[in-house]
Amino acid sequence: MATTNGTSSALPALQTNPKAIFFTDFDGTITLQDSNDFMTDNLGFGTALRKKGNEDVLFDRKSFRDSFQEMLDSVQTPFAECIKILLANIKLDPKFKEFHNWCAANNVPIVVLSGGMTPVIKALLAHLVGEKEVEAMQIVSNDVQARPGKSINEEGGWTIKYHDDSSFGHDKSLEIKPYAALAERPIMFYAGDGVSDLSAAKETDLLFAKAGRDLVQWCERQNVPFTVFNDFSDIYKVVQSVIEGKTSVQDAATGRG
Ligand SMILES: [Mg+2]
Repeated sequence: MATTNGTSSALPALQTNPKAIFFTDFDGTITLQDSNDFMTDNLGFGTALRKKGNEDVLFDRKSFRDSFQEMLDSVQTPFAECIKILLANIKLDPKFKEFHNWCAANNVPIVVLSGGMTPVIKALLAHLVGEKEVEAMQIVSNDVQARPGKSINEEGGWTIKYHDDSSFGHDKSLEIKPYAALAERPIMFYAGDGVSDLSAAKETDLLFAKAGRDLVQWCERQNVPFTVFNDFSDIYKVVQSVIEGKTSVQDAATGRG
């Protein structure tokens, strides 16, 4: 997009001069199940090895980056086939579409920050929210790439292509920090469910942590203000109230209460 203001080309969510930006995780936050776990459990090496991999990360025996790569590399199914299977099995939060439509009508850009893969996210969102709508959303995630001498749509043909060099594969705070550093900026929200969301969440004004998931305990342990959500109707109410000036982000950060 042509712009005379260097800032807006580097910070795409500022292009429409919004009052707020809604950053969000994808798997387990917008979706009800984690699409990467689903592939690993059903098409790859299975639940037991996946859980062992998660433990290795938790106890610092392995980086998240390496463990996640091993999980996805255990999936030999052609990529197009994986997408088809995910579309048939992964469900989106039933209230996300309504929230998305309200954001679109009220100039609140939604920026998806994910440790998954962009083509998977686009396919699932297009299926459930609409193709045109997805084109307008910014998605910052990892990609997929062919293994040497193969194409992604053959058996054992694809692997993940990481977004950056961090031990997460995708450090979600990298995208948020330039916005957070501005002297004058929109209100920043973040919604997530897992540990990889914590670094990003610390940079925003109000964090929504999914009820019953790891992120809630992490926030309490590290004293990061947050509020819990069960589904996007909870988020919708709070975001709307903050945008309309009825609630402050400080008052909205009620923790589990
Ligand atoms: Mg997640």
